[in-house]
Amino acid sequence: MSNCYTIGVIRGDGIGAEIVDEAIKVLDAVASSENLSFNYKDYLMGGVAIDETGVPLPAETVDGVKLCDAILFGAIGGPKWDSVERHLRPESGLLALRKEMGTFANLRPAIVYDELVNASTLKPEILKGVDIMVVRELTGGIYFGQPREQHADRAFNTMIYTREEVLRIAKVGFEIAMKRDKRLCSVDKANVLEVSQFWRDIVEEVAKDYPEVALSHMYVDNAAMQLIREPKQFDVILTGNIFGDILSDAASMLSGSIGLLPSASTGEGVGLYEPIHGSAPDIAGQGIANPIATIASAAMMLRYSLGETKAADKIDNAIKKALSEGYRTGDIGAFDAKEVCATEEMGSIIANYASQV
Ligand code: NAD
Repeated sequence: MSNCYTIGVIRGDGIGAEIVDEAIKVLDAVASSENLSFNYKDYLMGGVAIDETGVPLPAETVDGVKLCDAILFGAIGGPKWDSVERHLRPESGLLALRKEMGTFANLRPAIVYDELVNASTLKPEILKGVDIMVVRELTGGIYFGQPREQHADRAFNTMIYTREEVLRIAKVGFEIAMKRDKRLCSVDKANVLEVSQFWRDIVEEVAKDYPEVALSHMYVDNAAMQLIREPKQFDVILTGNIFGDILSDAASMLSGSIGLLPSASTGEGVGLYEPIHGSAPDIAGQGIANPIATIASAAMMLRYSLGETKAADKIDNAIKKALSEGYRTGDIGAFDAKEVCATEEMGSIIANYASQV
């Protein structure tokens, strides 16, 4: 009997539909060889939802995706909706969805594919072999802390973490480290901030349950420098909301293109899987977007929400094979492309390899 999963699909705006279609193509290719079956259910979010329903996150979407096993999401937003009131903008739909799903853990891998070491602005010898997972706390910290106020003569925000919030994200970090190289670097600013010392103490506590994981601590300013100086020293980086926001963007640029990197947001409810990039309105509809970030997000979905590790490995290996065979989309194509592919071609090549490897 095959394992059957219901996937909530949110294509969104701009290149969203183009890239999600390719991820589905690859999922279907791996399904047939791994005896899996996927039931896709489409939901609206973002600008397209505003146009059709007047709001960026319709109630039907929230109710529907809650019943799914995982959510595969493309991207939202675009100039058409830039003048809409802030709380009705496409982006507010995504923030609301994350909140609804209780996704407190944001996983952002920064992988440098061997074939693309020349695509980055850093030297190849610094980059070859980089494989980092940034585990960022997503629903607490200074972005959500109360009180927060802005006045004519002063403004403030509050950086607050509860014990429960740090415990649960630390556990996610250690669990992921156990599945990788068993090295975890917790990043904070404990030399200045009480909330960071609190974070560090709780991470130390959780570490006792994971004796196989080598734990280190680093101040965030040093971590920013070390990511550029010697990124290979990192396996898992565990950090809070604001530090993770900044460090994961810096880490993503090690790979060479924003079109390559996936992400997962997991937690209490249904996991949300999406590329780290936006809706790329400048290239939407041209069929040239890189679908790899979304295809790799589908692999993360198989790994972290569905527990289908073998199928996830097949997709990751198929991406590597396509790149090692010299296939490139335009964003990574200027260097050593055998062939510059359109979105659909790249999806078909990866789907073909995923069904074989
Ligand atoms: P963007 O990530 O959409 O694009 C930045 C640049 O990267 C553009 O030149 C684009 O063409 C290129 N790019 C992005 N993805 C690519 C891909 N897969 N292949 C090839 N090139 C790619 O960021 P932006 O231009 O700042 O934002 C555009 C819209 O997307 C805005 O409305 C923004 O609010 C929204 N946005 C949405 C999300 C999301 O849905 N999660 C994230 C970021 C931005």
